[in-house]
Amino acid sequence: MDDLLRRHRGVMPSWMPIYYAEPIELVTGKGARVTDSNGRSYLDFFGGVLTNSLGYDVPEVREAVERQLRTGIAHTSTLYLIRQQVELAEKIARLSGIPDARVFFTNSGTEANEAALQLATNARQSSTILAVRNSYHGRTAATIGVTGNRAWSASPLSPFNVSYLHSGDRLRGVLKGLSDEDYLRAAAEDLREVLATTTAGPVACLIAEPIQGVGGFTSGPDGLLRVWKEILDEHGVLLVSDEVQTGWGRTGEHFWGYQAHGVTPDLLTFAKGIGNGFALAGVVGRAEVMESVQGISFSTFGGNPISTAAGNAVLDYIVAHDLQANAARVGAILLDGLRAVDSPVVLEVRGKGLMIGVELVDVATTNAVFEACKRDGLLVGKGGLYGTTIRMGPPLNLSEAEAREGLEILTSALTAAGSASG
Ligand code: PMP
Repeated sequence: MDDLLRRHRGVMPSWMPIYYAEPIELVTGKGARVTDSNGRSYLDFFGGVLTNSLGYDVPEVREAVERQLRTGIAHTSTLYLIRQQVELAEKIARLSGIPDARVFFTNSGTEANEAALQLATNARQSSTILAVRNSYHGRTAATIGVTGNRAWSASPLSPFNVSYLHSGDRLRGVLKGLSDEDYLRAAAEDLREVLATTTAGPVACLIAEPIQGVGGFTSGPDGLLRVWKEILDEHGVLLVSDEVQTGWGRTGEHFWGYQAHGVTPDLLTFAKGIGNGFALAGVVGRAEVMESVQGISFSTFGGNPISTAAGNAVLDYIVAHDLQANAARVGAILLDGLRAVDSPVVLEVRGKGLMIGVELVDVATTNAVFEACKRDGLLVGKGGLYGTTIRMGPPLNLSEAEAREGLEILTSALTAAGSASG
């Protein structure tokens, strides 16, 4: 391991973060568990940043991919018809809730957002975009430009004029401590003011995550997207819902995060969980917007036979096993259990379904809890604008017993950190 770390440091750029004081190499996985190169087993509550929707080594997904590989066609150009690509697009269009939906596949969430921004700016013939503070939308020039978190801004240059709305962080800033009703009123005023003061011509779109993922699972009250959309509609501005983390039933109560808000976006982007590890992402939108591009466009790997074979198997599994309901049921065990933890280092437990954040008092405590979990066999994530959130996004088919096992490890880490602080 030391040698691999040394080699990593010798050849990869220093701005690539690696988790843990002693980084681990994961070599095998089954269900919600992984094993590292030292033979240590962990319960994985982060799943490659909410990518592992079904856990590791799912027979249905493995068989679908193997079946495709056996045809000899690991890849053809997307210039030819690909049966499973069309099938998956039909399923996603139907599930999206967007009327008259068209689907374009990409390889990553970043590219999906890039495509959405291109579609919206083209449809509106405007390069002015609204985004939200504390957001994360990707790592290309356009998506960094709409990412409201300086730590992730590898480049300060953006092709767009971007204005940022106030964020969903309800522990800090001007929205701190507001009731839901007052929050929604303040958010509406904020949007109206930004629209009135933005000087760069018409606005193309607002891009927002229903729950901010990298931002630490923060969100405004349910209904926020509706309040925003009513105002956006007055100005013809499109709404893009970035569902890269909140899609596929992750939030338990709905299939998409936007559905908690009683409104339908014009465009929706997806990634991560649909591939359960395979590179698969895309954008869904109303035909009117999706058909607005002038030229032709193409992606060599977007929606290729292997990743869409995997995507169909993953989506069929999620629907057939009603994993949205499992996320709600098992997520409630985790949320209730964490809310019952009595530790002075915990500021807030938040989230929905199997997307759960624990906000802690400071970075040192967050790192201590993060490392203690690993020591005791639980992998979690961390994040938030201030690096003070423990983030969890376990597989959507996590069992109740696995939830309780992870809960026990995290509870003892939080309790120990609380005693140390006292
Ligand atoms: N949007 C959101 C909400 C994300 O969380 C991420 C990834 N963390 C992205 C977009 C970018 O996705 P990718 O890393 O697949 O490019």
